[in-house]
Amino acid sequence: MSIEDKLRDVLKTIPGHVKLVTVSKTQPVESILLVYNAGQRIFGENKVQELTEKQPQLPDDINWHMLGHLQTNKVKYIAPFVSLIHSVDSLKLLKEIDKEAAKNKRVIDCLLEFYIAREESKFGMSMEEALEILNSEDYKNMNNIRICGVMGIASFVDDPDIVRAEFKSLVGIFSRLKSEFFPDKDYFSEISMGMSSDYRIAIEEGATIVRIGTAIFGERDYSK
Ligand SMILES: *Cc1c(COP(=O)(O)O)cnc(C)c1O
Repeated sequence: MSIEDKLRDVLKTIPGHVKLVTVSKTQPVESILLVYNAGQRIFGENKVQELTEKQPQLPDDINWHMLGHLQTNKVKYIAPFVSLIHSVDSLKLLKEIDKEAAKNKRVIDCLLEFYIAREESKFGMSMEEALEILNSEDYKNMNNIRICGVMGIASFVDDPDIVRAEFKSLVGIFSRLKSEFFPDKDYFSEISMGMSSDYRIAIEEGATIVRIGTAIFGERDYSK
């Protein structure tokens, strides 16, 4: 099946209110253009270097999302153009994004990444860490970031009940943060969860953004 056909099949399973981030990591510019020409405008990458290499080679109206772990010293490379950072996992990183956004006279939209999987994972925060950030003076003084919601990655397991419970936990986190910190902020509305193997469950549980690579482009080839 062609990439365009796979995209069409995926889109059929995604309701209109859910945004699709096409995850283009490891994919060549030519494949990304096929998806772009089929109408898709949101692309996600997980490495700063790959993102900054591809962005100038592709059309200007693409919304680039940063999905992967972001080191503070690399924020400056994506701050001029990135449209949503899904992977904010520390106050230090948020401060750096705010600083670089200010330099670029921008407000950068961010999601707080939460650790929801049962597997050991290096990335993502706990509720306690998020509360510490949102209650801090540092956060209150930031003018160039906007926290638009939450992101999480479920366990890579075959048991859909485990995955579903993890997505439910992220929705619970979203609801608590919404009512405690953003009750009258319409922009705090995003729940980014679900990948090729589990996005249908994520949508059932309330995802507003799904991040899909393999189901559209096929298996990634990391050897290139
Ligand atoms: C690679 C990646 C995805 C997409 O994974 P697929 O299984 O290829 O759909 C989604 N989210 C993040 C954070 C990723 O790194």
